[in-house]
Amino acid sequence: MNCMLIQYLNCPNCSGILSWNIIDLQYENIIKASMYCANCAAEYFVHDGIACFVSTKNEFQQALEYEKELTSNSTEKYIYTSDTQKAIDECIQATNKEIMNIHSGSIILDFAAGHGTLFTNLCKRTDLIYIVNDIDIGSLIHIKIANQSKDEINVNYLAFDARYSPFRNKCITFALSLLGLQHIVDYQTCLLELKRIVANDIIHISSFCPENDKLNLFVLKSKKLLDMWLENNFYKVLSFHNINYNIIYKTQAFVKGVEKEKGQKYIGKDNFPVTDTTFYYSVTKLY
Ligand SMILES: [Zn+2]
Repeated sequence: MNCMLIQYLNCPNCSGILSWNIIDLQYENIIKASMYCANCAAEYFVHDGIACFVSTKNEFQQALEYEKELTSNSTEKYIYTSDTQKAIDECIQATNKEIMNIHSGSIILDFAAGHGTLFTNLCKRTDLIYIVNDIDIGSLIHIKIANQSKDEINVNYLAFDARYSPFRNKCITFALSLLGLQHIVDYQTCLLELKRIVANDIIHISSFCPENDKLNLFVLKSKKLLDMWLENNFYKVLSFHNINYNIIYKTQAFVKGVEKEKGQKYIGKDNFPVTDTTFYYSVTKLY
């Protein structure tokens, strides 16, 4: 983590000032450090260059269990048709066009980065500061290794719950995510937190289930995930929180249903859908 980020960081649990004990600093990069909040006694750390701002007091356990549940049906079970892959690639390209126009020195946050698909394919500019986030430090280690050859880029890996970030008000210039909101327990809380920390736009790549798809909708409903996967619901929530939006790219893809696993009625949330259907993919800019 680049030490210039210290000025933007507070305790994610109580917004208190953090005391930094930097143990290993190489050039401007903090490799090892411990942080302490005198206000709420929370402790955080930087290990192997990855900063961990996960507090036990902010429903972290619940979020982590949800994350585990999402990823428990191992990645080899992912069934992406070439159509789905094409739709995701197109959305990433539309996001990259936006990044080309961002002014020099901007801080770009890729929140809930997951497997790192967006960050790995993101346009890398040497005059921007990138922050890659996920609640799971293991995901960040994975993304860091996959992007190791791009050393001249200012990339920082920060583990935190995107609903309770360590950033001070409006210090992130742009936030981006590929399906990030759809993977967060209560994405409405996350939206409000992003509104607090982001100065300019939030760009979100979303996928939506068609409203006449009864079986898939039933599964989403049973997993309490319906809200975010229906286009109309998502935009209703944005309007409710006075978040304006502009759809900058839209496409559709035929997605293949995943197979049922022995003893399970339906396969996990992240491997949605359960029957073949057509999804809509869109890149939305939120203000
Ligand atoms: Zn604190």
